[in-house]
Amino acid sequence: MGGRGARSRLLAESGLVLRSNSSIGPGEIREIETASEAKNFDELRQYMWDTHGITLEDEVSDLDFAAVRDNLQGLEDVLKEFPAAENILYSMVSVGVDKDETNGYADTSPHGRIALYYRRFKVGSVLQGYYSRDAANGMYPAGTTYTDVLRHEAGHLLILALATRDVQGIRSVQDRVAALVDLWDSREYENKILNKAFNNLQKAKAGRGKAFADLASDVSTYAAKNTAETFAECISDYSKNRVHAKALSKEVWKIAKKELT
Ligand SMILES: [Zn+2]
Repeated sequence: MGGRGARSRLLAESGLVLRSNSSIGPGEIREIETASEAKNFDELRQYMWDTHGITLEDEVSDLDFAAVRDNLQGLEDVLKEFPAAENILYSMVSVGVDKDETNGYADTSPHGRIALYYRRFKVGSVLQGYYSRDAANGMYPAGTTYTDVLRHEAGHLLILALATRDVQGIRSVQDRVAALVDLWDSREYENKILNKAFNNLQKAKAGRGKAFADLASDVSTYAAKNTAETFAECISDYSKNRVHAKALSKEVWKIAKKELT
C-alpha cells in the first residue's frame, strides 16, 4: 500500500489533489478510498495502480465500466484480507481483455495477469444474464452474482502469492519464473490446503462421512472440476457469503489465512 501514500503525498505537494467534496474538473485527480467509488475508467485505473500496483490495460476501457469496477471491488475485498499476499502479489497483477475467448468469464495466468473475457464483459446486462443463469444451475456458489467473478480469480492469485513467496530465494529471474509456473501447474498448494481442510472436516460434524467430491460439489459444480477450481470457488464462496458459505469454503479460508500470514 506504500505506493498510494507516496503518490498521494507527491500529488498533495504538486497541488493536484483536491479536498473531498470539491467539484472535479477535467484532467484533475480525485481521491477515492475504494474501487467502487470510481466514476470512470481514468479514476479506476489511477486508483488500482496507486493502491495496489495493478495495471488496467487500455483495452479494459472497451468493457462495461460498472461491471469492471464492481468486480475490481470484489478483488480488492479478498486481497485486503490477505495483507501478506499484498506486497508479493500486487505488483504482478494486470487486468486484461481476451477478445477471442468464448467460454467462462475470466482467467488468471501464472504470470499474474487476469483476463476478463470481452464476450461477457462488453455489456453489463449480458454479463448479468449469463451469470444468473449459471449460478441458478449451480455452476457457481449460491449467493454470488456477476460482480463476483474476480473473487474467484483472487483465489487463484492467493495460490500465486504462496508460490511467489517460496521461489523468492531463486536468484535468476528466468529460473524463478520457471519454478513458479511449475508450482502453479502442480496444484501443490491447492492440494495441500484442500487435504488439510478435508481432514479437519472429517473430524467435524459438517463433514463427517462425506467424500471430498461431495464437499466440493456442495460449493458449486465448477468447484468439482479440479482442485485449482475447488480452491478458487471456496475463496469466492467464503469472501461473499461469510457465515453462510459452505463447510469446505469456511475451512479453506481459515487455512489460507494461516498459510498467508
Ligand atoms: Zn478458475
